[in-house]
Amino acid sequence: MALPVEEWRLCTARRWAALEPALRERLATASLHDMLRLGCGLLRPEAEAAALRRLCRRVRAGKDPAAARFYREEGNRLFGRRHYGAAARLYSQAAALWSPQAASHELPGSPEVSVCFANRSAALFHLGRFEVCLEDIARAESHGYPDRLLPKVLLRKAECLLCLGRLQDAADALSVVENKIAMDGIMTSPTHQTLLKKLSQLKIKIHEKESCPEPAQEACGDIQRKLEIWEENDSISGASSSLSLNFDRERGRHLVAAQDILPGQSLLKEEAFVSVLCPGESRLLQDSSETVWDTRATNADLYCHRCLRQLLASVPCRGCSYAKYCSQNCADVAWEQYHRTECSLGALLLTLGVFCHVALRTVLLAGFAEVSRLVEWSHDGDKDLHNAEARCKHLSEAPDTRAGTRGIPGCNDDGQYQSSYQAVFNLLPHAEKHSPEHKFLCMLSVVAICKQLQEAGLEAAVLNRESSEKWSKPKACEKTSGELSPELKTMAEAMLRHVLQLQCNAQAITVMQESGSGDGAVVDKKPVRLATAFFPVLSLLNHSCCPNISVSFSGTAATVRASQPIASGQEIFHCYGPHRCRTRVAERQQLLSQYFFECRCQACLDELESDVKSVVSMRNSFCCPSCRAPMQGEDMLCCSNEACAISVSRESLSRRLRDLQQQIKKALELLRDRKADQAIKMLLKCQMDAGKFLSPEHLLMGEMEDHLAQVYATLGKWQEAARHLERSIEIVEMHHGPSSVEIGHELFKLAQILFNGFAVSEALSTIQRAEEILSVHCGPQSTQIQELQEMKTCLLELPRSILQRT
Ligand SMILES: [Zn+2]
Ligand SMILES: [Zn+2]
Ligand SMILES: [Zn+2]
Ligand SMILES: [Zn+2]
Repeated sequence: MALPVEEWRLCTARRWAALEPALRERLATASLHDMLRLGCGLLRPEAEAAALRRLCRRVRAGKDPAAARFYREEGNRLFGRRHYGAAARLYSQAAALWSPQAASHELPGSPEVSVCFANRSAALFHLGRFEVCLEDIARAESHGYPDRLLPKVLLRKAECLLCLGRLQDAADALSVVENKIAMDGIMTSPTHQTLLKKLSQLKIKIHEKESCPEPAQEACGDIQRKLEIWEENDSISGASSSLSLNFDRERGRHLVAAQDILPGQSLLKEEAFVSVLCPGESRLLQDSSETVWDTRATNADLYCHRCLRQLLASVPCRGCSYAKYCSQNCADVAWEQYHRTECSLGALLLTLGVFCHVALRTVLLAGFAEVSRLVEWSHDGDKDLHNAEARCKHLSEAPDTRAGTRGIPGCNDDGQYQSSYQAVFNLLPHAEKHSPEHKFLCMLSVVAICKQLQEAGLEAAVLNRESSEKWSKPKACEKTSGELSPELKTMAEAMLRHVLQLQCNAQAITVMQESGSGDGAVVDKKPVRLATAFFPVLSLLNHSCCPNISVSFSGTAATVRASQPIASGQEIFHCYGPHRCRTRVAERQQLLSQYFFECRCQACLDELESDVKSVVSMRNSFCCPSCRAPMQGEDMLCCSNEACAISVSRESLSRRLRDLQQQIKKALELLRDRKADQAIKMLLKCQMDAGKFLSPEHLLMGEMEDHLAQVYATLGKWQEAARHLERSIEIVEMHHGPSSVEIGHELFKLAQILFNGFAVSEALSTIQRAEEILSVHCGPQSTQIQELQEMKTCLLELPRSILQRT
């Protein structure tokens, strides 16, 4: 999803192959500036641009009343079956698909949208989310909710206020309903009768609560919060003073410990300069004739388009169906900063992939003035090629450490490195290392975006020159073809630079997302890629396959913590993906080639030197179907037991592995349909099969144990669940190490299971272990640590009788 869709990649590849060899040669060696100027005209309106338009038609990014109706009805259906969470989500999808009232731009939304909000408020009420329910009721009212339906919603408002203990407000809301009913005249229909009955019941409830108020809840401000050691660095924004920025020719810019660092110590807290939510797969339809609407939730349904906060009751954009926000404020800020330009480009941006989208948003956030200043500056650098080199040399040879960070690329004149557009601009685009075809694809994609901006009359908005009012429709440009303006060319050049930078500098923002139905007592979470972002300070960290830090995210902010002791003078290393615990050295080197370097970390050096087969490959390998000894070889695998001498093709075992994964998937679907017994049977059969050809330490063996634990937990069979999870933990530990964040998450699950099964002493010791590991990786204030502490408090307060029983 980072790169454009395959059809567009093929289309540009064909164009590249058909170019004159001389032009190809010139493009291959041109600077970004010259490349763009040479290539602008190569996006032919009747050929490439038309093909791209066809591809965009497959993407649904605009309003669609038919789809809206479908989602609302689906929501009603699930509401009827009491799946309130899923119903709320479908109402959100419906709300985003209705077009706002065309007649008036003053009144936001439409009665249809208001019905979605009102229905959603009912679902939220059943979920016990009273505050959000009230917000939705207010939204329904302000979007022109039909008058005759109002009493029901107002009663819900009173009920919500009652549940929140706001008795006076509840009573006030009730009298509003009463007045309304009185004004509307006598009501005789059955629905009105139920309403009246409900009204009198509520009145009684309020009266009861008033006469015997509940004891005030004691404020729970007793949570011990360890104070984190934090002293901000003078010259690197967001970094701790225990780090320093160094530069040499071999390693480039990098961060080093300026003093001894303890595990768990915060090293960096950085807000993303720019981030773009990664859309879900189902946004891209395979076939434009497809009329089946997908009800599966995508990232766009679950997280705020701007701040990445989890959505419960989203606020839809008025112009498109793909941007949903956590609040009106986020919607307004996003509109001001970038979405007024992006809104109508949804289908194009989804087709061209997240990297292009990040590149566009980066220049929009920076603003034209700053972009053009730095683009100009980079041209000066191009003219004097030796300039940069001379500067490097000077720095690497500089004996005076007090020269500090002054002159390091990306630092300002005071030698400060800040999370700014200047820092983003100075990340290396490695323009000379990308393949010419790839650069051509990126160039045509960027030009396509700029052309569409020009055609849609958005150029003024891009250049921050729009003075007209907020919601006014941009006027379409008169001349729809032709050259890009010089200003747009400058923006395009910067965007091209950013797309190329992203290959090495894109940072994924991941979150732990609940998987499965989410209604179990044990929450199973998996890491999910949520967004792609530029973090200019985090980008200073070099890669190692055995990193000494851990990164966690909250919204669009990243926190880096030491995952082990780091001695003063040691370099701080981040893992870009291939970790020594999970991937073989050859595969790691292959994966890292996209970053244009050969990893020389300790793990790689050790493994490349020794002839011994990597431990990882042994763990994730096949075993002999006959005697279960490890299998060896490449395409043809032979049993390592000489007496056995069985040989099988790797392909046939791989096929068996894929079949097994399919079966496991089916078992999980059974679990989702609440057929736990069948799911167990199927998983046990999978385990049997797997034992015949997978090594006992294979990660999949652990995954099956993990799934079994999950099924038993849904049945309340805590002991069985714990037993299976413990086996899964053993395997996870072999792959990721005993103090890895993965083990932390597994222990967290085990703690929940033991807690539910009242296995008090085991639960307490597991909580302790999980706390120690997770506080290093996620910090003492993470939600998981808080949940663990709540469990502990609860267990320690259990009556003695229960404690003795265990
Ligand atoms: Zn938000
Ligand atoms: Zn929009
Ligand atoms: Zn390495
Ligand atoms: Zn054998």
